[in-house]
Amino acid sequence: MTEPMDFTYQSLPMRVRLAVDAIATVGEELDRAGLSGALVLCTPKQRPLAQTVLDSLGGRGAGIFDQARMHVPVETADTAIKAARDVGADCCVVVGGGSSIGLGKAIALDSPLPIIAIPTTYAGSEMTPIWGLTRDGRKQTGRDPAVLPTSVIYDPAVTTTLPAGISAASGLNAMAHAVEALYAPDTSPIISLMAEEGVRAFMAALPAVIADGTDLTARTQALYGAWLCGACLGATAMSLHHKLCHVLGGSLDLPHAQTHAIVLPYALAYNEAHAPAARAALQRAMATEQQPSVAVWKMAQTLPIPHSLSELGVKESQLNEVIEQAVSSPYANPAPVTADGLAHLLHQALHGTRPTHR
Ligand code: NAD
Repeated sequence: MTEPMDFTYQSLPMRVRLAVDAIATVGEELDRAGLSGALVLCTPKQRPLAQTVLDSLGGRGAGIFDQARMHVPVETADTAIKAARDVGADCCVVVGGGSSIGLGKAIALDSPLPIIAIPTTYAGSEMTPIWGLTRDGRKQTGRDPAVLPTSVIYDPAVTTTLPAGISAASGLNAMAHAVEALYAPDTSPIISLMAEEGVRAFMAALPAVIADGTDLTARTQALYGAWLCGACLGATAMSLHHKLCHVLGGSLDLPHAQTHAIVLPYALAYNEAHAPAARAALQRAMATEQQPSVAVWKMAQTLPIPHSLSELGVKESQLNEVIEQAVSSPYANPAPVTADGLAHLLHQALHGTRPTHR
């Protein structure tokens, strides 16, 4: 130990329940909070699960809004806000991934309806006060404690239907939150513990989830990891990896989790030499002496996901615009963010080659 500790840690007010079949307790969550009129939110694809939840609520269910979309278009948010008013909802029960939870947050931003979240991916939005809204193709994000769910129910049984490819990409998306929390300017010893444990959970869970999507032990481990990694995202400022994915997703309309999954090894390679404590924590979590960037890249090679930006349709000619946007506003990052450095990173990510730092 070389220096005295110096950190701030603010815990977020929320109840979390994790258990197989915990979805059956959603009515109890409403009772506990004195709520009696839930609008259930989901994507069109997840309507059957939302219907099961609505049915289980009995008289406490006010209806279903099943039009959640990726990145919360403002038109969708407006329609959902009107639907919540029309049915006299006093809360939202959200069943789904980051898109559905994002819609709940958009409603809470307008009128303070509490959110009870039942996450079905590993994106981690349920653990954060971060909201996002897309207007005219531009995504705006912000932080507001009013959008943080009051209760989160993690039920591994509702994640067994998540396809292998989305499970893998979503798990790497979650790991990226933990990676950047480890070197965040506002990290703390508590967050570092959660981040290391979150990465450890996913390193074990992802191969098992891919081998058998119905393995409830592996699905439980993955949701536990999602919780930890999401909490890391909610508590710290993110750096280069998240900035690049935000720019790539926004300007080239790329899928969220897959973009994170592809970029993570390269963003790690960019930063790991400048973040020795984070690198050591990741090596412990991954049980390896290799560079964490290489260990993540090797694991990603075994997963059923796209491994390069070119597989998502990105062209070399589009990279300069991404670099310009990514260097245009300053943010904390272990390694200095330079246009040359980003060009190297993005060219590697474009082709999916083994990550190296220049
Ligand atoms: P998603 O919510 O869009 O879900 C991806 C697809 O998987 C959808 O078609 C959905 O219907 C389907 N799906 C989800 N769970 C399923 C299940 N168990 N079985 C079968 N199909 C299932 O994807 P995501 O990656 O979870 O969320 C991405 C969005 O969340 C992005 O808009 C991103 O910006 C946002 N996000 C926000 C935060 C935050 O803190 N605000 C954090 C992470 C992600």
